[in-house]
Amino acid sequence: MSAADAVTDSLNRMRAEFGDLPGGRPADYIPQLGLADPDAFGLALVSMDGHSYSAGEADVPFTIQSVSKPFIYALALSVLGLDEVSRWVGAEPSGDAFNAISLEPGTGRPANAMVNAGAIVTTALIPDTPGEPAFDRILRCLGRFAGRELDVDEEVFTSESMTGDRNRALAYLIRATGTMPVDPVLAVDRYFRQCAVRVTAVDLATMAATLAYGGLNPVTRDQVVSPEVAARVLAVMATCGMYDGSGEWLLRIGLPAKSGVSGGLIAVGPARFGLATYSPPLDTAGNSVRGQAALRALSERYGLHLMLNP
Ligand code: GLN
Repeated sequence: MSAADAVTDSLNRMRAEFGDLPGGRPADYIPQLGLADPDAFGLALVSMDGHSYSAGEADVPFTIQSVSKPFIYALALSVLGLDEVSRWVGAEPSGDAFNAISLEPGTGRPANAMVNAGAIVTTALIPDTPGEPAFDRILRCLGRFAGRELDVDEEVFTSESMTGDRNRALAYLIRATGTMPVDPVLAVDRYFRQCAVRVTAVDLATMAATLAYGGLNPVTRDQVVSPEVAARVLAVMATCGMYDGSGEWLLRIGLPAKSGVSGGLIAVGPARFGLATYSPPLDTAGNSVRGQAALRALSERYGLHLMLNP
């Protein structure tokens, strides 16, 4: 079997092994997400030579949700620099749920850019330019990471917008106790739109591979962000990407990762690969049950833990 066939074979094996894993359920606090097919299970890997490998429902579209957060953090770092971004958003694991009121005592600054509070501020930090409104910049940035033009699922956007009071409350609280760069209503609207950007597991694997490759998209050869920015984003993903499951994840799987409530999950092997899974049933921390199981098995079987094989 060729090396390429072996990668596809491993992904197919993961799908077969974990496709029936019970437990978890699709998020439904955003009503439209509750309509997802719980049995859809896609896996994709993009290597540093730009090859993509996939298994199962790797081309099924779903909304990116929180998997967008590291990429918009990367955009903010590129536009404003680390020192300026750090005035607004911290880099400490919160140990709390993704939608918790994770604000630093004293400053009111959100704990990190991977939880909702920090992501709303990060999104709000992206300025309009004369030629391009902020959201168009966000969409174009996500598209450059994915290597193709992306669009917004308007139904998911509307669904979240109608039910997103907790995020709206967070945005107002940040304005009241800390710092919010723009009007909270505008910030949250832009954040919901960002979360509703449509991707596939193959897109997410390409995005993860771009972070793995120092900000260079290995498929399109587009330098999306600098190597320094990519490294910083991976550092925050490693410590905060799986919310209150981040420590356990780094302990067992040992790869920077980011999950989202629609069931997407990415893991990055720096200078080696980008991996992504899509499976909607989530555990209580809001992380995909089957996605985590498959990535854990891949990490264990192939010795992907960064502290083991840097
Ligand atoms: N749009 C979702 C929210 O803010 C994203 C959360 C997530 O994917 N964990 O609730």
